[in-house]
Amino acid sequence: MAGPVMTETSGKVVIRNVGLMLSGDIDAPILDADTVVVQDGVIASVGREKDCDTGDPRRLIDCRGSTLGPGLIDSHVHPVFGDWTPRQNQLGWIESCMHGGVTTMISAGEVHLPGRPKDVIGVKALAITAQRAFDGMRAAGVGGGVKVLAGAPVIEQGMTEQDFADLAAAGVRLLGEIGLGSVKAGDEAAKMVGWARKYGIQSTIHTGGPSIPGSGLIDEHVVLEADADVIGHVNGGHTSLSYKSVCTLCEKSSRALEIVHNGNERIAILTAKHAMELKCPHRVILGTDAPAGSGVQPLGILRLIALISSLADIPAEIVFGFATGNIARMRGLSQGLIEPGRPADFVFMDKAQHSAGRDILDSVRLGDIPGVGMVMIDGIVRCQRSRNTPPAVEVPVIVA
Ligand SMILES: [Zn+2]
Repeated sequence: MAGPVMTETSGKVVIRNVGLMLSGDIDAPILDADTVVVQDGVIASVGREKDCDTGDPRRLIDCRGSTLGPGLIDSHVHPVFGDWTPRQNQLGWIESCMHGGVTTMISAGEVHLPGRPKDVIGVKALAITAQRAFDGMRAAGVGGGVKVLAGAPVIEQGMTEQDFADLAAAGVRLLGEIGLGSVKAGDEAAKMVGWARKYGIQSTIHTGGPSIPGSGLIDEHVVLEADADVIGHVNGGHTSLSYKSVCTLCEKSSRALEIVHNGNERIAILTAKHAMELKCPHRVILGTDAPAGSGVQPLGILRLIALISSLADIPAEIVFGFATGNIARMRGLSQGLIEPGRPADFVFMDKAQHSAGRDILDSVRLGDIPGVGMVMIDGIVRCQRSRNTPPAVEVPVIVA
């Protein structure tokens, strides 16, 4: 399970001969560039090879005409501790998702921890511990180097403004899904969302029917009143609100519309289409909501991209942006876009072998997932040809 321990930075890395470069930005999804230069884990320049300083790299990668994009971000996961999930008693799921192109995961609550505390001091202690543990896990080389942003407390009745101030002061930046704890009423949730926002903590809310026995319904009225930053799994997790109710959320709120793999697929497609019609595609972000009752899907984000592009009829380069740049902007992350100054977190892909598509974008538009040829996090190669995706036609080569 352990990979390279992060004892040093990447130094200078040159990535050349990129055939197609996706920016992550849905307003300009394809870059006029074939080269990226990385310095100590950060993108130093992006452009044509002749315009970049490519001399004396510590590492040189030839993409052989394949595609480079920002590493995928999973906006909705439920980690517990380490690279283990008790939900399906599975080891190595985070590293396995890295082989599906995911370089960052965002916790929607460490809710599957057996015996999860529900008293206020216990909720706070767990959140702070999870934030620290997942931050340290990467440096320890566990989880394939994936950046797991965790420590997302599920709010409970009895929490005060001071509790949110304490959490923020301790480094907690996220709330877990509102509705999974004892706070289920809109007015009560709105008060705590306001406290969280005041102290720089981002919030998300469960939307739809109960996920597993013991959780509850959160309908559109509660979602609108709570006004969390992210309308978590707007297509249900799994059980969705009616399409009419989802349209109400699209139209009456301006918050992020999170579509998940472990949700209602019909509503996923209709929501993506409706967001395009409403001219608010920047609000659409993608997640898996894994681990869950339906398991862990290492290719979940790629599958969701292919599903939405093919069935909602949205260009693949835009849908890749839903899982990268849109999440970066909605959640204030530095990663998720290819531009100088941002972390060198990349997924290298190509059309899967024997796809009917002309090229990678056409293949995704036809419903096929691409093949991953390499994943890089902070300028460090974390895997070469993915063990999980169908084989890519062309994969990058490490020249030096
Ligand atoms: Zn949920």
